[in-house]
Amino acid sequence: MRIFDPHIHMTSRTTDDYEAMHAAGVRAVVEPSFWLGQPRTSPASFLDYFDSLLGWEPFRAAQYGIAHHCTLALNPKEAGDPRCVPVLDELPRYLVKDQVVAVGEIGYDSMTPAEDTALAVQLQLAADHQLPALVHTPHRDKPAGLRRTLDVVRESALPPERVLVDHLNETTVKEAKDSGCWLGFSVYPDTKMDEQRMVAILREYGPEQVLVNSAADWGRSDPLKTRRVGDLMLAEDFTEDDVDRVLWRNPVAFYGLSGRLNLDLAAPGTTHEGNSVLRGVPKDGTTTGTAEA
Ligand SMILES: [Zn+2]
Repeated sequence: MRIFDPHIHMTSRTTDDYEAMHAAGVRAVVEPSFWLGQPRTSPASFLDYFDSLLGWEPFRAAQYGIAHHCTLALNPKEAGDPRCVPVLDELPRYLVKDQVVAVGEIGYDSMTPAEDTALAVQLQLAADHQLPALVHTPHRDKPAGLRRTLDVVRESALPPERVLVDHLNETTVKEAKDSGCWLGFSVYPDTKMDEQRMVAILREYGPEQVLVNSAADWGRSDPLKTRRVGDLMLAEDFTEDDVDRVLWRNPVAFYGLSGRLNLDLAAPGTTHEGNSVLRGVPKDGTTTGTAEA
């Protein structure tokens, strides 16, 4: 089973996770920029984070045979913080970079006027840069949040077929599907979707334009949830072709809209700016030690 996790925050995960993901079939990920839990106090903090998503993290992923791309944006949680909003002026010079395959994650958290502005401005940035957009939908009052999100998308220059609305569930899937957007589902251990509910939605609505992600991050989450959905699909009589469509071809098609998806991992380097993922010389002594972070 080949798996593309279209929404996962690897910055918060360990090398053990990369190893387990590769063993489960994960060969590609997209890491959306997001909130770090600790509020940022200046645009400079975003820029170091963006650089890490463009440099260190793809390097780390490549050591484990996984292709890494990212989406960049001012996230919904910090879109109302005046200390953070000026990062919008810095985004254009980052959105031209090769590994950026969408603007995201953008969207609503508390549905404030400041979030309205950040969402509209960043949908325009996506249109200006010929990029698709990854749009997070709020975790509270989901139907109202989705409706307002789709209104802003309709008023934007970005057509729905270049928009992925994420964190959907049973209460929002129908309206999202009718909008013509791509449909994202985050499968978590306790909250939001689980594997059984995900498979039931796939049975009712079909696999077209559906993307399943783990959205694993620093909170309670599981980077192998994509695989668990694939296994349950097979157990419940979906075909291998259906699984491949949902877990591989759909994310490739959506992020491929950027024209920048490169899934070729030929011979990754062993260091990034002089640093490796190793901590000293391995026990078998076969690899030369490299400079440490
Ligand atoms: Zn996320």
